[in-house]
Order: sequence, then structure tokens, then C-alpha cells
Amino acid sequence: MISVEKALKTILVNFRPLGLEKINILESRGRVIGEDIFSPRNIPSANNSAMDGYAVRYADTKGATKNNPLQLKIIEDIPAGKVALKKIKAGEAARIMTGAVIPEGADAVIRQEDTQKNGKTVIIYSSVQKKENIRFAGEDVKRGELVVKRGSALRPAHIGMLASLGKSFVSVYQKPRVAIMSTGDELVNIETDPPPGKLVNSNSYSLAAQVLECGAIPIMMGITRDRKSDLQKKFKTALDADVIISSGGVSVGDFDFVKNVMGEIGNAMHFWQVAMRPGKPLAFGAIEGVPLFGLPGNPVSAMVSFEQFVRPSLLKMQGHTKIYRQTIKAICTEEFQKKEGFRHFIRAVVKKEKDKYVASTTGDQGSGILKSMVTANGLIVMGENESRIKKGAQVTVQLLDDSLSRSESLQF
Ligand code: AMP
Ligand code: MG
Repeated sequence: MISVEKALKTILVNFRPLGLEKINILESRGRVIGEDIFSPRNIPSANNSAMDGYAVRYADTKGATKNNPLQLKIIEDIPAGKVALKKIKAGEAARIMTGAVIPEGADAVIRQEDTQKNGKTVIIYSSVQKKENIRFAGEDVKRGELVVKRGSALRPAHIGMLASLGKSFVSVYQKPRVAIMSTGDELVNIETDPPPGKLVNSNSYSLAAQVLECGAIPIMMGITRDRKSDLQKKFKTALDADVIISSGGVSVGDFDFVKNVMGEIGNAMHFWQVAMRPGKPLAFGAIEGVPLFGLPGNPVSAMVSFEQFVRPSLLKMQGHTKIYRQTIKAICTEEFQKKEGFRHFIRAVVKKEKDKYVASTTGDQGSGILKSMVTANGLIVMGENESRIKKGAQVTVQLLDDSLSRSESLQF
């Protein structure tokens, strides 16, 4: 049996980012970019107006006020997207719309609100500074500038930036294909009403959803019976996946053959059993070079083990460097006791109350109580050397989703 830290270390050295693929930027949200993007152009491409108003020479507006208006001659009209034909000379102005290129000779724009049109002239009621209301060429992005760094996880703003550079395709790390199989003679398919002694294979579904949640592709391999020959056959059909996940059959029961089969056909069982609860009977190895996680069968154990070990691995394969769940400190509303030696992951609901977080358990912590995961948004992590958490003590909580970053009401 090894520690959670050691297990994680042993697992992660087996994973590297996959190769790159070129995809449309519309499909790239959340993906990790595998190339540096340098801008081929200035954005904006030319000096342009930040306001609807009049392009002027700032010197011509000096001293203009409500009580001392000045007049300039309108020589041209410049809508957005058009380039001026004339140069602004002393005493002249051009009507200009937001985004339109500043005409030659002008060095400021006066807002429409500070002017009044009067036939072919404009009355101005305020002065402007040099460069006022002008957006300069390259002020957002300069030609040659590094705008999106290799390794960035793409968000909508990155995608807008790529679009503004004219890049409709981008290289990102591939998504791992993850074969998921459940083992157990007691399992029936989702369509079947389970007779006594049988139960629906739910693990394949929770695991598939977890795979999707970290951006990878689940491949449903169905149920495998508790026979070595069946397991061997099934594992072999999964070898074109990037990762294999099985659930069940890794304990010490008479029919728990997964680890034997891993040892026999894989000849690469890295470890079995981790000092954690739930999730102790985890096996990790490889079959013909394909990493294989033998997760425990109990529904909570399978999910918690996935969280701790599979999720960081799948994120690493996709080029992510931030591969761990966020942890926060919270005040625990209950007392806990456990034996030393194991790391415990206690299903909890975390809420923000005033300016601190408060965590309460979601009830029965049995590893078969899937309901305890349904209501949880976090796992209280109780360290190997801890034996007791007092009510009101501070605990570390690993967040399982982003529910704490959202709110039911507007907050300022
Ligand atoms: P095992 O580790 O194979 O002994 O499985 C432990 C327990 O987990 C079984 O007795 C089942 O109750 C449960 N279990 C195993 N596999 C699944 C599955 N695919 N879906 C739901 N529950 C399962
Ligand atoms: Mg079993």
C-alpha cells in the first residue's frame, strides 16, 4: 500500500501531453493551445475615432466654451469603414463616426455632444487636448507581438483575439480517448430492472461524465463478467484508446481478477492499494503501453479515485498545467474521528456565509452511498496524520465544481 502523494507521483510520470491537432477556433474553447500566436498586424490598423463627432486640429478649439463658442468649416463626412479624401487645415473639421480613420491634419476628435451643426459649419462649445478621443494604430496589439502563449487554456477572449488576427484554425492538444469498462457478475445494463442481487451499472455513466468534464472522450465498453478470460479479451479490445479505466474487481474478493489480468497481460502493474478512504483498492498499470486505472467498484470510491488520480492525468494529457482541483479553507460544522494512516475524503456541502466558507457533510459516508456525492460540491480532506476534527475547526476542502464561483443573486 502506498500514500496518495506517492500514488499520484507514480501515475503522473506516465502521462505526457498528446500530439496536436488543428481545429476551428469555434471548437477551441477550453482546449490548450499548442503554438505561440504572434500578431501579423497592428490592431487597430490605423488611428481612428473613439467617438462620434468632429475630427479637428486641437489648436483650433483653444478657448472654446459654452459662452465662447467657436466655428469650424465642415469639409467632409467620414463614416466608419471609409477613409478621408481631404486634409484638415486650419479652421476646418470633418464629421467623423466612431471607428473611422482620422483624416490627415487632424490631431483630436471633439464629441458630438459638445458641438452643434449649423449648415456647412460646426459650432464647438468646448476645447479638446491633443490626441483626445483618438484610438491609435497598434494600441491594442502591435505587429509581431506575442498575443496568445502556447499552453494557454482558451477562453472566449482568446478566441476573439484569434479571430481579430484572422486565424480561424488553431493547433491544440488532442483529447484523450478513454475506454471505460465495468466489471462484475452482479451488474445489469441501464435498461434492465435489476432482479434481487443485481444492480445497474452506474459507474460507467458517472465515470463517462467525469471524463467529459475534464474535456476527454469517453468510449463506453460496457460490462465485463468476473472471469479472467472475459477481462483479458475486453482489455485487449480497448488497446486503441489512450487510457483504460475499469471499475470493480480490484479488491481481495475471490472474483477480483482485474489486478491479476493486469499483471499477466500487461506485465506492468505499478501499484495496488492506496492509503485513502474511500478508494483504497486502486490498481494502476499498463497494458501494451496503454495506461490502465483499475478503480474500485463502489460508486463513491470509483468517483473519488477518479477525482484524485484520473482527472489530473487526463488534464496533463491535454496540455494543462493547472491539473488539480482548487482547495479552500472552511469551518467544519461537525466533529470527525478516524484512525491515523489513511487520507480521508469526506463528502461535503460548502457554502459561503458572510466572509467565510462553512462545510457540512452530506450524511452517510459509506462508499456505496452515491447520494452522498450527488449533494456534495466538495471533499473535506483529512490528512493521514490527523485523527480528529473538532466542530468549528478549520478544514481543507477540495472543490468538485465551480458552484462557489456562482451566485443566485447579484453581489457587489
Ligand atoms: P467490487 O470492487 O467489484 O467488489 O465492487 C464493490 C461493489 O461496488 C459491488 O458490490 C457493487 O455493489 C458495486 N459496484 C461495482 N461495480 C459497479 C458498477 N459498475 N456500478 C455500480 N455499482 C458497482
Ligand atoms: Mg466486483
